[in-house]
Amino acid sequence: MRVLLLGGSTEASALAKLLAQDGRFEATLSLAGRTASPRAQPVATRTGGFGGVEGLARYLRRERIDVLVDATHPFAAQMSRNAIEAAAAARTPLLAVERPAWQPQPGDNWTLAPDMAAAVQAIGSAPRKVFSGIGSLALAELQAAPQHTYVVRLIDLPKVPLALPDIVFVQACGPFTVEDDIRLFREHGVEVVLAKNAGGDATVSKIEAARALGLPVTMVQRPFIPPRPTVATAEEAMAWLAKCWNSTLESR
Ligand code: NAP
Repeated sequence: MRVLLLGGSTEASALAKLLAQDGRFEATLSLAGRTASPRAQPVATRTGGFGGVEGLARYLRRERIDVLVDATHPFAAQMSRNAIEAAAAARTPLLAVERPAWQPQPGDNWTLAPDMAAAVQAIGSAPRKVFSGIGSLALAELQAAPQHTYVVRLIDLPKVPLALPDIVFVQACGPFTVEDDIRLFREHGVEVVLAKNAGGDATVSKIEAARALGLPVTMVQRPFIPPRPTVATAEEAMAWLAKCWNSTLESR
């Protein structure tokens, strides 16, 4: 069974590993190409956009893909919407792997924002020391609030300089520990944590560190993605794919 796996997430890497160990499946992992040196993967990898819905539908037909698995990051909404439309156009079954969002716990001080622009505004007009764990894609949005001092953690440093007078970059790749993040926040005197509700374990340490230190969190909520068949983990995706495999055998 030929599987196209849209990646760029922890779950996609875990699923690529499981698929590589299972002879029933021949998987290709697709990456957008945003990370300069992505981790080596145990399945065939392709990199770069498909060219919108039409390009992806064409790829699905040309490569005779049997199942499309969208395991992109929960904030990669454009790709996920394209996957829904392209799968329908090419009549390819689609499965999404989407980890649950983080939930506030009693005592947490979260301000919810519908998008990054609103989140940056929600931090307020008074200058604050802000930890940004939002990744590189939304970084330019911080320029709307130059009054703050930013501590920005990133995998790759930005290629284009940001118009912000007071910014410190911490170049690091998760997963991180709560202890590390508590130390980092104390060291820089962080007052507010700006985060996207990515969910999962790999980057939750900043939320737990904010909880431990009683810091407010400005949380960007997930973008809307139309409903589609969805599981939460790589293991559940394998079970779904195995069912798909069995029903294909039965129908032959
Ligand atoms: P996006 O806004 O949803 O997608 C923009 C375009 O990038 C898509 O239309 C597609 O181009 C291309 N693209 C995205 N994911 C792709 C994939 N896996 N394979 C091939 N092309 C892909 O996506 P994004 O938010 O820029 O995220 C890009 C990548 O980074 C994704 O793989 C995502 O999983 C990962 N990521 C994103 C975030 C985040 O916060 N957004 C965080 C961590 C990792 P075409 O239309 O030309 O096909």
